[in-house]
Amino acid sequence: MRKYIIAGNWKMNKTVSESIALAKGIVDAVKGIKKTEVVIAPTYLAAAKVADVVKGTNVKLAIQDIHWQDQGAYTGKVSVDMVKEIGAEYIIIGHSEQRQYFHETEETVNLKVKKTLAANIKPIICIGETLPQREANELKTVLSTQITGAFKDVSSADAEKCVLAYEPVWAIGTGKVATDEQAEEAHAYIRSVIKDLYGAKIADEMRIQYGGSMKPGNAAGLLSQNDIDGGLIGGAALKADSFFAIIDAAEKR
Ligand code: PEP
Repeated sequence: MRKYIIAGNWKMNKTVSESIALAKGIVDAVKGIKKTEVVIAPTYLAAAKVADVVKGTNVKLAIQDIHWQDQGAYTGKVSVDMVKEIGAEYIIIGHSEQRQYFHETEETVNLKVKKTLAANIKPIICIGETLPQREANELKTVLSTQITGAFKDVSSADAEKCVLAYEPVWAIGTGKVATDEQAEEAHAYIRSVIKDLYGAKIADEMRIQYGGSMKPGNAAGLLSQNDIDGGLIGGAALKADSFFAIIDAAEKR
């Protein structure tokens, strides 16, 4: 059975002191959580401090992005060794905001995925269509292109460590959530693409999160779908109580 994974992507929000306070609030709130994996992704600046807060708790640290090079003249970037040293267990890769504003391509997603896996850290690979793509009936083509690109030259042994996040771009930060049926249709299709690439066992075990305006009020419905195994949460992850309410909805399934 797949374990739910609820991850908070804090994006460019929270100062270091605010991040520490939020992380402490989440650690306290989830003490009784047993079945659901809880992950938080602060900014680079706050990550090392937040790592100290979550150490030894049931909250795991994720990083929002990395560069695929080991070190050198890449102003503004961090390497996988840097995030490994502070204990990151997940790295978010290919978020639509990276794709939209920072020239992320299928090729750079793939380089980052392979670099992350080589360091024994788990990638959370984000995929999803824009509204024009959905309206042009390109959902399946977009998703299969993104999945095939991300997993190029990734072995089965490595693929099983990955988490996918289906995030319809039109639902991110907009308050427009995909209906349970729209989300499930996309998730089931994503699982079928993984099955074609890696076989039924890996497809059955791979966790696929939904992301896009997931909130306490809609989480239970989304999480009740067969192929939805958690959430990647932006806005609602910025307060311990709303983030906890989503975790609790997963825990009660
Ligand atoms: C996200 O950042 O991945 C996201 C889904 O944001 P929001 O929950 O705010 O739509």
